Parts: sequence; structure tokens; C-alpha cells
Amino acid sequence: MPSEFVFPPRLNLALQPTPLDFLSRLSAELGLRIWCKRDDLTGGVLTGNKIRKLEYVLADALACGADTLLTCGGLQSNHCRATALLAAKEGLNCELILRGEPGLHDHDANLLLSELAGATIHTYPAAVYQPQLFELAREHRARLEAEGKTPYWIATGASDGVGVWGYIRAARELANDCLSQGITAPLVVCAAGSGGTLAGLAVGLARYLPRARVLAIAVCDDATYFEGRVGADIAACQQRWPDAGVQMPDNFQVCDDYIGPGYGEAGAEIYQLISQLARQEGLVLDQVYTAKAFYGMLQELRLGRIDSKDCIFVHTGGVFGLFAAREHFYHPNNFN
Ligand SMILES: *Cc1c(COP(=O)(O)O)cnc(C)c1O
Repeated sequence: MPSEFVFPPRLNLALQPTPLDFLSRLSAELGLRIWCKRDDLTGGVLTGNKIRKLEYVLADALACGADTLLTCGGLQSNHCRATALLAAKEGLNCELILRGEPGLHDHDANLLLSELAGATIHTYPAAVYQPQLFELAREHRARLEAEGKTPYWIATGASDGVGVWGYIRAARELANDCLSQGITAPLVVCAAGSGGTLAGLAVGLARYLPRARVLAIAVCDDATYFEGRVGADIAACQQRWPDAGVQMPDNFQVCDDYIGPGYGEAGAEIYQLISQLARQEGLVLDQVYTAKAFYGMLQELRLGRIDSKDCIFVHTGGVFGLFAAREHFYHPNNFN
């Protein structure tokens, strides 16, 4: 193994290492090896990638003496659900700033779990949230301080200079998986929503598995945005931990061809792929992140743009979001 990073303190929250599964029937169909890093198994209700980042972010919050976590996201945010549950686990308060106005049927899936965990929830219409998030966050912080609390602000998706350590560490785990399977030069594919998973994987794999490449499939914004975002989060990490050994990676690429109709909105091909993989491999993807990324990987393969013999799809979780989109599976053709 190459020389180590100097990792900052973390809480031990995720179930890890997660399995690296071989998708045998899909691989046989496509004529190359498709693997799945099962980060949907990092926890039961804590499923997904956010918990790995939150291990570092919550350690930082506790070191700062925080008693209240404040963060933001969509109504069905996986990140907010994981933060709410982890706050309860650590004995902290949690307040969520959410985009959207919940109707009765929205108290389901991730939002239901955040509510169950006792988070205080503030919702704003998208037209207010989008342009004013920064001010909203500042107002809520000021209010919490006036109430005598010590709030700790967590960026969207826990993607920042602290959260990036979660996937640097995950990259070390993945490199060990590869070593034991004889995989030396894989293409590692993940979804990009706020960019922290991509940033951490790229930094970590550059050190632990230098012949690996990372392909991130954007589910919002565009490639230029994510390139800037990755650079900014890594720069923040380097600034805070100048001697930790973190270097700017050049082993990754962002593809923004598969966003479809928009963030959280998907075409029929995405729902079809979710059904197909559930039946073919017992693998359940979500329509917001993982199915779009998987679809993008399959399309890039078909277009001949991937030359690696091993593709590793990082399953970043999201299963609860599927329940909030149940109506898309009612079509009788999906249940034949
Ligand atoms: C947040 C999320 C992502 C995107 O990860 P980022 O680090 O924000 O880019 C992917 N999949 C799921 C299920 C997520 O919840």
C-alpha cells in the first residue's frame, strides 16, 4: 500500500467494509465484468453514501461543541434523513431547511424518517429556497444562537472540505476489495449530486489504486460545475489539513449527458432499468441518483467510450426515494 493520508478524527457510524458484489448475469450479457460496491449497505435506515461523509462531519461538529445540526436539501433528501437519524443517535438536535411544500402524501419515505427522528423541519417553496438558501441558513443559525444553542452548519450533501474524507477512506476500502479480486485498472462509476463522493473517490483512488479512473454521472448542474466544486472542496480540505497528504487528482471525468428532464425527474428508461436490475440481480436503484448513473454507465459502454475490463458501480443508496415515486411503477407493463 502507498503512503498513508493523515486522516482527521471520525465517528464510527457506517457498517463497513461494504461488499463488492459481482453482477454475474449483467456481466455475461454485456461481455465484461460489472461490479457493485454496496454502499447502500452502510446501514439500514442509514443507508447510502452520506453516512460515510457524516462520520467526519459529526466528529468535527462534536469537537466544535455543537448541540444542534443544521442542514438542508430537498423534501426527500437522503442526506437530511441520515443527518436527522445520526443526530438522534449522538444526542444532538437537528433542524432541516427543506425545498418544497409537503402535501399529506409527502410525509413518507425520507421525510417520514426525518420526522420520526425528531428533526425540526422548515420548508420553503423552491422559488424561495433556491435563491435564498444562504440567507435562510444564516437566519436559522442566528435564531438558534439567540435561543442559546450551538448550531453546526452542514453543507448540502455533507460535501465540503471535511466530508470529503468519507470517500477518501472509502477509496482505501475499495482498493483493498480490488486487490483481493485481482482488479488493477477499473473504471469506478458514481452519481454526482453535490460532488463529495466523486471528490473523495478521486483523491483516494489516485493514491491507493493509481490505475483506476473515476467517471461521475451528473444528476444535476453540469460537468463544469462539478469540476469547480471538486476543486473547491479539495482546496478547502488542503487548507484545513495542509500536511494530510491530499493532492488535487486528475483521474476523473464528469459526464452530464444523463440528467434527463431534470434533478429528481426521470424518463421511462430509468424506471425500466430499475425494474430490470431488481429482477436480474436483486439490486434496487433509485430514480434520483443511482439509476441515472447506472443508465449512464450502460450507455457509455454501448457507445464504446469505456475500455476498462472492470466497471465498478458505486451504489450510493437512495432506496427510500423510490417509495416517493411509486406511481411511476403502476404502469401494468412494469409488472408483467
Ligand atoms: C447524495 C446522493 C448521491 C450523490 O452524492 P454526492 O456526494 O452528493 O455527489 C448519490 N446517490 C445517493 C443515493 C445520494 O443520496
